[in-house]
Amino acid sequence: MSAVHLSQASGSAAIPAKQQIADSTHLQGRVPVTVAYGDGIGPEIMEAVLRVLDAADAPVRYDVIEIGEKCYSQGHTSGIAPEAWEVIRRNRVLLKAPITTPQGSGYKSLNVTIRKALNLFANVRPAKAYAPFVASPHPDMNLVIIRENEEDLYAGIEHQQTPEVVQVLKLVTRPGCERIVRYAFEYARTYGRRIVTCMTKDNIMKLTDGLFHRVFDEVAAEYPDIVAEHQIIDIGAARLAGQPNQFDVIVTLNLYGDILSDIAAHISGSVGLAGSANIGSEAAMFEAVHGSAPDIAGRGIANPSGLLVAATQMLVHIGAAGTAERIKNAWLRTLEDGIHTADIYRPSVSALQVGTHDFAAAVIARLGQEPRHLTPVHYRAGGIHVVPAPAAQTTKELVGVDVFLDWEDAGRNPNVLGATLESAIPEGWSLKMVTNRGVKVYPDGLPETFCTDHWRCRFVPRNERPLSFDKVLALLGTLHAAGLDVIKTEHLYTFDGRRGYSLGQGE
Ligand code: NAD
Repeated sequence: MSAVHLSQASGSAAIPAKQQIADSTHLQGRVPVTVAYGDGIGPEIMEAVLRVLDAADAPVRYDVIEIGEKCYSQGHTSGIAPEAWEVIRRNRVLLKAPITTPQGSGYKSLNVTIRKALNLFANVRPAKAYAPFVASPHPDMNLVIIRENEEDLYAGIEHQQTPEVVQVLKLVTRPGCERIVRYAFEYARTYGRRIVTCMTKDNIMKLTDGLFHRVFDEVAAEYPDIVAEHQIIDIGAARLAGQPNQFDVIVTLNLYGDILSDIAAHISGSVGLAGSANIGSEAAMFEAVHGSAPDIAGRGIANPSGLLVAATQMLVHIGAAGTAERIKNAWLRTLEDGIHTADIYRPSVSALQVGTHDFAAAVIARLGQEPRHLTPVHYRAGGIHVVPAPAAQTTKELVGVDVFLDWEDAGRNPNVLGATLESAIPEGWSLKMVTNRGVKVYPDGLPETFCTDHWRCRFVPRNERPLSFDKVLALLGTLHAAGLDVIKTEHLYTFDGRRGYSLGQGE
């Protein structure tokens, strides 16, 4: 099969060119969606999902691409061929079945590649229990985690700076925070959810997590119809694990979101039923949370629900909320009627064990029906649109510099380093403090503080404001000439008069 082919709305197989032309009228006005059948159970569940979409007359048409094992084996280290990229970029909506990630080095994660290449800034993971029809330790759980997907510690900027010290840069941007927070509130409105909880660690990371929290408060003020609350991530995570029914929508930074969404998926009892969306301003990818399940591939018994739920997220995304609603309600009714695939079948609650094909048929037979016990879904029409606020003008002023040194001498005695610096610094500068791993060790440090070989030395000008970069260069030149090993600098700025750097502990 070529990497790309057009298929009709029911779409699993390539269709003749003649028929494509005949169908083109029918396909007009439909949203083009890129479809990837993936590996393992991927083709079976995708086929089932597309049959349901067709039966519901979802306003989409499909361009099928090849990804996964076959592409990896052809030497594409990201699991995708360049021509398939073209289709993804053109259509901007991707419905993706799971793939089997090859073992061993030299291969890149396809998901990470797609996320980064398409700037998919939001990862959206609903975690819901469908008790009593599907067993769950938390029967009332029904929450969504909206995780920032591009920033934070995942920018992957790491350095070793001294023999003992490595660092990673945690990057958090105002537009990044605003986009994800706004998305969370828009999501809450579209999906009829009432509470958005922000989780950060801003009691410790006052600038980075503090920015996320501040932007959350600003954006929340524009959504008076939705309850907004903030929790510190550690206690928030504990509450999520213990009482997940207290949460509705959670919005958080990348790392916290990564951890929370796995906790939530694990405790919901229905990982196999969960879908996930990766959303960007230009493109979006929808998939099941589970993997390619090679152990049951080709047997026709896999549960297509995770991918089907992801497909309903996709329909809401493209503005087809009504179709998404019809499919989701029919699916809920199917679960409720006890029509279950083997993974969720329990003789005490299930009425009939079915395979992938018959499960899809059962959903199709229920299109137009709503669940009687589970809550039916109602989505707001129009999809989710995030309009970023224009960038504000700020006045930035250089007011000092942190110089980082690799320094080993004198048994790492901070007072010796302090004295060396005091005698080396040029006219017009003063040494404000020296810290080691963030703890102030000079002046007036405590002898008990453990010191590594990595020192931050904060210099501020005695009088000159604003400070010039030339003066910083002169300071660095003097330190270098004194034999000190400067490993990096961080400028200290104020923005509109507000301090843009942390104070040292003990300062
Ligand atoms: P998995 O989710 O594929 O399977 C875990 C267990 O759950 C297996 O017993 C499997 O049979 C069962 N299961 C999963 N989905 C099911 C479904 N829809 N219906 C019924 N049972 C289902 O996880 P794994 O075994 O750790 O990973 C298998 C492969 O999938 C690996 O190569 C992994 O890298 C890949 N993977 C891909 C994605 C993705 O493409 N997004 C995500 C996770 C894992």
